[in-house]
Amino acid sequence: MQRTVAVFGGGVSGLAASYYLARSPQAPKVILLESSSCLGGWIDSTRTEDGAVFEHGPRGIRPAGAVGKNTLLMVSELGLEGEVLPVPGDHPASKNRYLYVNGTLHKLPSNISGLVRTVPPFSRPLIWSGLKELMTPRGKEVDENIHAFVRRRFGQELADIAIDSLCRGVFAGDCRALSMRSCFPALFQAERTHRSVIVGMAFGREKSVPVDSPLIRRAKEERWSQWSLRGGMRSLPEALEQYLKQRGVAIHYGAPVRRLERTAAGSWRIAVDDGSVEADHVISALPARVLAEALPTWAEPLARELLAIRAVSVAVVNLHYKDVGLPVTGFGHLVPSFQDSSLLGIVYDSVAFPEQDGSGGPGVRLTVMLGGAWFTPGLGDPDQVSHVALLQRAQAAVKEHLGISTEPFRAIVKVHKDCIPQYTLGHWKHIESAKSFLEQRKLPLSLVGASYEGVSVNDCIASARTAVGKLLGQVS
Ligand code: FAD
Repeated sequence: MQRTVAVFGGGVSGLAASYYLARSPQAPKVILLESSSCLGGWIDSTRTEDGAVFEHGPRGIRPAGAVGKNTLLMVSELGLEGEVLPVPGDHPASKNRYLYVNGTLHKLPSNISGLVRTVPPFSRPLIWSGLKELMTPRGKEVDENIHAFVRRRFGQELADIAIDSLCRGVFAGDCRALSMRSCFPALFQAERTHRSVIVGMAFGREKSVPVDSPLIRRAKEERWSQWSLRGGMRSLPEALEQYLKQRGVAIHYGAPVRRLERTAAGSWRIAVDDGSVEADHVISALPARVLAEALPTWAEPLARELLAIRAVSVAVVNLHYKDVGLPVTGFGHLVPSFQDSSLLGIVYDSVAFPEQDGSGGPGVRLTVMLGGAWFTPGLGDPDQVSHVALLQRAQAAVKEHLGISTEPFRAIVKVHKDCIPQYTLGHWKHIESAKSFLEQRKLPLSLVGASYEGVSVNDCIASARTAVGKLLGQVS
């Protein structure tokens, strides 16, 4: 009899898991359970009538590495190649990234001459941090917070300013709490295997991946730093949804998973609001804490590990200005926590993707990111915070940092509660304990998605592919 696999959660991880299941030669029956009325999870774009696009979640996908190539392959397979908006290596959005420190925007060095000169806000040439790194002995800790790791190897200033800002941009998190081992596993391993991160990254290059396509080759030749889709990132879940429907995947919208139980025959009985569903295997692409709450009481040791994986909230304010210019051109700027803890940074969307500005005449689209690990102390309770106050805060930052004081002609405010999981010190122990519980009990349950081993869209898709490959023995 054909096996049934239930996939929990219709974010990009659950969609990707369903996609890999549905396209396998031994495709099982696939049931996708999503609590809301639409798919995509945090991937969410607004398209206006005049053709402008505003991203409320991810806006740029990196093509690099095995996981980046894997996503580009999926994009081609879904027929989205013609929709891709690349940002080539020589584009200002690839070369220019800024930090806002002490009232000024500072461009981060993007070439060797920038490393040998003193470039503010740093007090000495960054090459000294590199030399320190090469001289520093290998660390002995099983895990270390990112700030401590970088301070030990590269020095205090790089940790306080650059890495602090980077972690706010990527994880909306505090580098003093986040784990080096789990957030930057390749760099952590490079130190372990080559004694130095720089040497490890130079000589321990990632093995070439056996995936290839014209799109992957183009991305490499043009040295893309990132890409998006013409109609916004939302086009990706839309294309996946269409594909799954064509392949006969049963998609249940408005179907929150409430409770999981094992039947006497060893399958799962899944309680949803209007009944139950049975499946031989479950792939959970839910946030870890949500899955923990649905587990049976005998799985309490697993639930405990999952409950330890917390996420932070982010307020995303999209602003569209007419007839104004930016003082600098580039991807955007980040703000270190000592400068303004609840203001994470501003993305200059119009620079990277002018195709999404719409037909309304010259303008500037910006996204202000607020909150993260500093949400509650800086902005208040994410459930209660006033959207008007968030908008004022974002506009004030745009005025102060970029000198734009006119009213935006469009503004959208979203508060994403618990949207970015935080891999804090010791995260790896929760993952290992969860995995060993599943293995010891031989439970037909796979864990995929942003809660575990990578928060980027690429990581989420790759985690789904790996889980399906393990379940079916291969992925075509
Ligand atoms: P989710 O998107 O959280 O999906 C989980 C799904 O499960 C949701 O659809 C939810 O409705 C559903 N669900 C919840 N409870 C239940 C239940 N009980 N039963 C059934 N379904 C349920 N990544 C990048 O690569 N580049 C970027 O530029 C980038 N920017 C980002 C900006 C923001 C503001 C955010 C929030 C994230 C960003 N990310 C970025 C990260 C990336 O977008 C996310 O990590 C990724 O989309 C998470 O996908 P997921 O499917 O694992 O989880």
